[in-house]
Amino acid sequence: MPELPEVETVRRALDRRVRGRVITAYRVGRPAFNRPIPTRALSRLKGSRIESVERRGKYLILRLSRGWDLVCHLGMSGSISFDSVEENHVRFRFTAGGRIVKMHDPRRFGRVGCALPKLGPEPLSAGFNADYLLGALRGRSAAVKACLLDQAVVAGVGNIYATEALYHAGIRPQRRAGAVSRAEAARLCVEVKQVLRRAIRMGGTTLQDQAFKDPEGRPGRFSLRTAVYGRKLGACGHELKATNRPISGRTSLYCPVCQR
Ligand SMILES: [Zn+2]
Repeated sequence: MPELPEVETVRRALDRRVRGRVITAYRVGRPAFNRPIPTRALSRLKGSRIESVERRGKYLILRLSRGWDLVCHLGMSGSISFDSVEENHVRFRFTAGGRIVKMHDPRRFGRVGCALPKLGPEPLSAGFNADYLLGALRGRSAAVKACLLDQAVVAGVGNIYATEALYHAGIRPQRRAGAVSRAEAARLCVEVKQVLRRAIRMGGTTLQDQAFKDPEGRPGRFSLRTAVYGRKLGACGHELKATNRPISGRTSLYCPVCQR
């Protein structure tokens, strides 16, 4: 699933290419997304100017003139491309400033025109700090990784970056969230920020199970730098283990030596 760095990569490309442009046409693909685009959202689209392209967690927000926002989520495997890419699985497209923007979504879990849910702080903001995280984890019996994946705790972190941040912080993903110390929460905050910043600089992560490409068709380069995710040996050189039980539906890799 595209996580914060991939969505941010898309946001930057869109902002560069369509900000200030007026939407002159749109088309909804067949079959459309699992959840249809509200007609109310579509009716306002044509003739609106894209004032800016913003991001909140894993959501893209097109701020439109007339005080209207179009909120999009790429779902499990969605992507956005400019006009050159083939037509398969295009669920939604629009034209702005003569440029065609297409949203592909083979699994149809993406959404356009949805409302923003209640989200936790942006991980790269000052609001995501040791005090906040310690408070969010306190008393919780869930695995610490499950809490990091909870979008109401922190917005935009998914499987890849939670796995990486926990490794760098030396905390096992299955550890009970309430048992994370203040020092560990502080370290985890720093590592979450660092891993996300690094991934944004690399244009996101592209792996076999996450075939991310930016709107210009370029793959992310962060996969070359993961320390645990998708590896057999950790960056530390130790053999990695998978958690016995799945966390939020998936087993998670960790280093049994370096993570406690
Ligand atoms: Zn290790």
